[in-house]
Amino acid sequence: LLGLDDISVRFGGHQALDGVSLDVAEREIVCVLGPSGSGKSTLLRVVAGLQEADAGRVLLDGRDQRGVPAHRRGVGLMFQDHQLFPQRDVAGNVAFGPRMHKVARPERERRVEELLDLVGLPGAGARAVSSLSGGEQQRVALARALAPNPRLLMLDEPLGQLDRSLRERLVVELRQLFGELGTTVLAVTHDQGEAFALADRVVVMRDGRIAQSGTPLEVWQRPADAFVARFLGFDN
Ligand code: ATP
Ligand code: MG
Repeated sequence: LLGLDDISVRFGGHQALDGVSLDVAEREIVCVLGPSGSGKSTLLRVVAGLQEADAGRVLLDGRDQRGVPAHRRGVGLMFQDHQLFPQRDVAGNVAFGPRMHKVARPERERRVEELLDLVGLPGAGARAVSSLSGGEQQRVALARALAPNPRLLMLDEPLGQLDRSLRERLVVELRQLFGELGTTVLAVTHDQGEAFALADRVVVMRDGRIAQSGTPLEVWQRPADAFVARFLGFDN
């Protein structure tokens, strides 16, 4: 479904992505792990069409996406800082996507309710965004990203501000939901436990490069190098 071929992005003197190649198969759930500043968000932005690569190609279904604007790529992105629309209520945020606008109102309302249930905010549709806690806003952003049911869903620290018990519950429900919907997912997280529970494949990044890519078990049992081992917490 997604192919990244030798992607590089430079910001001034800083190489944010340095020759990243990655394939994501239909229905695969890939989690990107890595220290702060290793290029995870930049990678998602390149795929979404919000950041142009200096070199390399982004392929979706084998088609080069150069020049294809973000809204034509059929991919969903939930931002790290979630960026909700403060002037809309919760339901208005969840139902925002252009594809949701074409859905008839009763169906749309049903879908919004379903998504709010899923993220643990049942009945919150009429609430003002400004009245929600940070974690609640994050859950609304997650519901909004899920709403148009994109073929490729990209999540940047989707559960970062949530407490552990909610995170553990959501990871299980999300994995099941993605399976049912057939959604392909590329998710960034700091939390190894979350990555290992959610992902079919884990990608560890370091300084704009992929240090290792493998199943959670492979990466856990055979870290590719000392960096990956240290990052996973094998400190010896
Ligand atoms: P975090 O875990 O903290 O979110 P990240 O892995 O998502 O980190 P990126 O946001 O991809 O990291 O940034 C990678 C590097 O590129 C960082 O050093 C960052 O400062 C730099 N960078 C990202 N965006 C820009 C920009 N628009 N202009 C200049 N530098 C940038
Ligand atoms: Mg980031």
